[in-house]
Amino acid sequence: MFRGAKGRCPSCGETKLFSSYLRVVPVCAVCSAPLGTYPSDDAPPYITMVIVLHLIIPIIVVLEETVQPPFWLDGIIFLPLAAILTLLLLPVVKGATIGLLLRLQVQRGQDGH
Ligand SMILES: [Zn+2]
Repeated sequence: MFRGAKGRCPSCGETKLFSSYLRVVPVCAVCSAPLGTYPSDDAPPYITMVIVLHLIIPIIVVLEETVQPPFWLDGIIFLPLAAILTLLLLPVVKGATIGLLLRLQVQRGQDGH
């Protein structure tokens, strides 16, 4: 799971998990783990949003209680910050999700295993 979070094959850690941003390699070139078969399409964006909200909301609360920035300033700072954090975290969360699914052997479809 931590290998996946670092963008490596969760099974062997030898190869890249993504062939491009968020595009998962179908089969690991080293250990031939069927990485592309894991149904990780829906959970990572949701998990990423939850993480980002938990990171940002405390910052907003602290700022509101200390410097009390005007509302428009919140929007200018935190909307781009939330977007950037989401983009940075999404591959990490997706890699970790695939690593977790690989561990749990949850695969898309039933192919006789
Ligand atoms: Zn591998």
